[in-house]
Amino acid sequence: MSLGIVYLVGAGPGDPGLLTVRAAELIARADVILHDRLIPAEALAGARPDAEVLYVGKQGGGRQMPQEETQRLLVERARAGRTVVRLKGGDPFVFGRGGEEALVCLEAGIAFEVVPGITAGVAAPAYAGIPVTHRDLASGVAFVTGHEDPAKPDSALDWPALAAFPGTLVFYMGVRALPRIAEQLVAGGRPADEPVAVVERGTLPGQRTLVATLSDVAERAAAEGIRAPAITLVGPVAELRERLAWLERRPLHGRTIAVTRARPQASALAARLRELGAGVVEAPAIRTRSLEAELPDLAVYDLVCVTSPNGAAELFARLGAAGRDARALAGLVVAAIGPGTARALKEHGIVADVVPERAVAEGLVSGLAGMDVRRALIVRAREGRDVLPDALRARGVDVDVVALYETVAEPLDEPTARAAAAADYVTFTSASTVRYFLDAAGGLDGPRIASIGPATSTALRDAGLEPHVEADPHTPDGLVEALVADAAR
Ligand code: SAH
Repeated sequence: MSLGIVYLVGAGPGDPGLLTVRAAELIARADVILHDRLIPAEALAGARPDAEVLYVGKQGGGRQMPQEETQRLLVERARAGRTVVRLKGGDPFVFGRGGEEALVCLEAGIAFEVVPGITAGVAAPAYAGIPVTHRDLASGVAFVTGHEDPAKPDSALDWPALAAFPGTLVFYMGVRALPRIAEQLVAGGRPADEPVAVVERGTLPGQRTLVATLSDVAERAAAEGIRAPAITLVGPVAELRERLAWLERRPLHGRTIAVTRARPQASALAARLRELGAGVVEAPAIRTRSLEAELPDLAVYDLVCVTSPNGAAELFARLGAAGRDARALAGLVVAAIGPGTARALKEHGIVADVVPERAVAEGLVSGLAGMDVRRALIVRAREGRDVLPDALRARGVDVDVVALYETVAEPLDEPTARAAAAADYVTFTSASTVRYFLDAAGGLDGPRIASIGPATSTALRDAGLEPHVEADPHTPDGLVEALVADAAR
């Protein structure tokens, strides 16, 4: 049997976007993943469903799994011929015991590779708007760690030498060490008014930064309740934060936004919100389920209306199952209710002839005004509104409505429901998200309510809730814009 291999992989400081491409590739391939606590929660999402994922960090009561045990697992799994990823926060060779584990592999005759990660000592300051070096302010940087417990002075740290270091000092140490860091550096000759930055939860949602001086940093950090994990940076570069802080300037910074739409559609909206600085609670209240319905012969129609991206996907799934493709729509006028549906059609090679300015059924009705149509097919969800078929029939059009899918409740677990209820905003993107979310959550009191458009707002009002925000245009992009405008109030 072939020997396995151990990859010592850095997972970055916390923001899942700071995982390297190589790390993601190896996580997706691993047979076994041994990981610590300080890795991005999302990092394991890409692991194989059958991968063995072992947590080797601090156990429940705060006891660390002994290093020997971790090393034994590494060797044993690799000897069994498996591909082992040892996943660590930040960089594996920066205060990550990666060096020790590499030596263990070497001694055991096991092949290993190292995948560097973005270390917290550079990333947390960067996210706080502090460059660890600067042409005029710091031409060197030192990474330092030591004993957390002030009762156990760490003889390994040469404080006078650190104080004399000509550049930025970056401490990977808990907040409890702050009094000692400040005291020792001042004793060693650093000016008492030298700037210090403490970055808590660097690159993670809820990152906090305190800028103080060596003389008052310990007191101020205690007063503000700064906690682990935190990076402490000492040096004149800390002053640049005042001008370079960029994270807090993002339009949705510090806002938590719950997204209730179905999981497959939620991720694009969630990603856009996160990019603007929001923390996102994904609380899908609905999912769609295909119906048995067969597609009628399309050749008899002169108009096909598609009223959701999912409707487009379902339409082409039926065509595909029948061995057909976009050519089945040749010669027909194709109408999409909005830009998202038009995009979904385009993925299948169809450029919609009609996309109304207002992405609602009423918009589509006016978009089709004056068009000479005899027979129309509407493909949609079972619970769709009748505005469009009614209006077309009133014009003398022969209309068939085929429901290709239905929207059903997605169970919402307790913690997710609670997180959504504690958010600053809850977003609703359809009447069904309103109904099923409120059914599952039992009500909504506190967050501001954001609706994608009038039909959703009506559903909210029917449930006794007045939306604070209504998007215009009635699209996910419109909703994001409306949230940004509301957050700037
Ligand atoms: N190998 C890791 C460091 C592990 S030591 C790396 O390269 O980043 C653990 C220490 O790192 C913590 O005590 C804290 O000081 C720091 N740390 C890790 N993640 C952090 C984060 N997201 N924000 C601030 N400090 C962090």
